[in-house]
Amino acid sequence: MSFDTLGLEPDVLRSVHDKGYSNPTPIQEQAIPIALTGKDLIGSAQTGTGKTAAFCLPALSLLKAHNAEKSPRCLILEPTRELAGQVDDNLELYGKHLDLKVALIHGGVKYGGQEKALEEGADIVVATPGRLLDHMEKGNISLAGIEILILDEVDRMLDMGFIEDVNYMVSQCPKERQTLFFSATVPDPIKKLADTVLTDPASVEL
Ligand code: AMP
Repeated sequence: MSFDTLGLEPDVLRSVHDKGYSNPTPIQEQAIPIALTGKDLIGSAQTGTGKTAAFCLPALSLLKAHNAEKSPRCLILEPTRELAGQVDDNLELYGKHLDLKVALIHGGVKYGGQEKALEEGADIVVATPGRLLDHMEKGNISLAGIEILILDEVDRMLDMGFIEDVNYMVSQCPKERQTLFFSATVPDPIKKLADTVLTDPASVEL
């Protein structure tokens, strides 16, 4: 299986070739074609499996080009600032031939730079729940234009006590959206959450 047949945008595919990957990993092979159809997806996969590209590549392909008129169209929630930073790095790498704007939102740094990035109009927001909530409460960001919601490492987000924040953020996104949901483990509380945020999801397991 090669990347060329997965249905990715040519400009996204080009960055994959630039990076030198020869073949998709199993989760990429399964998840990318499904995500590109706009369908909801639940994936159980650990880090190290190529999971980040499995959701970044289709999201970039679906969004394609910067839209200055719109508030963020894609939200990616991560449990820690390190993971959020890694996803931001991946978006920059795989999106280098596109002109999409990405805002990285996490705690431990000043608000100013993040406010500026949101004001300038980000297509994709990568965030940890706590700081994103602060920006929502300050009126710096609306989730009303979210078309693609990606919840990553959901089990860790719940372990860290973010369930209420995550539920609130999901409730602020339009009901008509695509949701991609990743968790290393899917015990009952995660299944319950998945049932409330996903619509008729395809399931990808490793
Ligand atoms: P992740 O599971 O997303 O943290 O990715 C783990 C590592 O695998 C990262 O260093 C990626 O750069 C790398 N990687 C992702 N996809 C591929 C691929 N198709 N071929 C080779 N390496 C990859």
